[in-house]
Amino acid sequence: MKIHNLENQTSLLSVFISEIRDLNIQKDSLRFRKNLERVGEILAYELSKDLSYRTKAIKTPLGEAEAGSLIDEVVICSVLRAGLTIHQGLLNYFDKAESAYISAFRKHKEDDSKIEVVVNYAAAPSLKGKTLILADPMLATGTTLENVQMVLSKYGTPKEIHIVSVIGSQSGVEHVARVFPQETHLWIAAIDKHLNSHSYIVPGLGDAGDLAFGEKLEINKI
Ligand code: URA
Repeated sequence: MKIHNLENQTSLLSVFISEIRDLNIQKDSLRFRKNLERVGEILAYELSKDLSYRTKAIKTPLGEAEAGSLIDEVVICSVLRAGLTIHQGLLNYFDKAESAYISAFRKHKEDDSKIEVVVNYAAAPSLKGKTLILADPMLATGTTLENVQMVLSKYGTPKEIHIVSVIGSQSGVEHVARVFPQETHLWIAAIDKHLNSHSYIVPGLGDAGDLAFGEKLEINKI
């Protein structure tokens, strides 16, 4: 896998990442969502450098200019719920992209130390020959993306896959590198060292879905 870790470049990206991590700032859910959307936009721009373009002549009011137009047919697939935030950022840049959505949730096993990822909803167009952008802001264990890929394989083989993530764990990134095709790209804003016993990224930022959209009620606690 080709890993593009943007963590070491100083840019506005590091400001947005520090705001989504910061305990005091992340409580403002509007700002949290907006910052994730902006991170999605930056990652969209970075990955756009790797896509295919054709040059075409366009007329301006004063003459003719050569300009690039995107050849790739892009499908953006997001993992609900947290993926919706970066999905919007990616859509802001890829005007003609189709969208796909997958619902995946973590089911904690009885002793609470192990998790199972359950995929229970998928809506996607054909992926055959297209450029698939898979958006999941928190790449913790990598098993969500692994399960998502298994479900998406029923929709046709994409030309290429770009995973877009905001914060990952070292072990999650390694897992994804093992299970995705070698030529897959990963675009990520930070890679943290640890996972805690509940498979949350440390230091990470907490629960991205809850911070963006509110706390969910655990079904077994209703
Ligand atoms: N999902 C989150 O929202 N946060 C984590 O740290 C891991 C998975």
